[in-house]
Amino acid sequence: MSLTDLYREVILDHFRTPRNKGHLDTPDRHAEGTNPLCGDEIQIDLAVSDGVVSDVRIDGQGCSISQASASMMTEAIKGKSIEEIQSLADTFNQLMTSDDTDILDPDRPGAVLGDLEALQGVREFPVRIKCATLSWHTMLDALSD
Ligand code: ZN
Repeated sequence: MSLTDLYREVILDHFRTPRNKGHLDTPDRHAEGTNPLCGDEIQIDLAVSDGVVSDVRIDGQGCSISQASASMMTEAIKGKSIEEIQSLADTFNQLMTSDDTDILDPDRPGAVLGDLEALQGVREFPVRIKCATLSWHTMLDALSD
């Protein structure tokens, strides 16, 4: 199986079986985002205590990239501090917009993106980058409230 096929499988798995889907009963933070170019919608609930995102739920609809990215993001941020999450968001944004291969150097702070690395092929399709980054922008909106 080629790396491209593997990435496609990872994306489809998250799209078909989204992690942390649903809503929190009493979220500390909430935000909604849309990507009108593609019709993607994301709603995010966060539980935040002592500067740490202790729980997260997502709901929404849209293309496989947007929904898989949201699912992957929930796994990446759960249990992390807001500082760590901002570092992750920077790394993911660079993964989407830069050809710099050092981004995924494991010694780099915030470099460990897990399944999110499967989305790196998206940067070959600029129109889809907004699909992949929608959930991150929405999550950062929620944190900045
Ligand atoms: Zn989309």
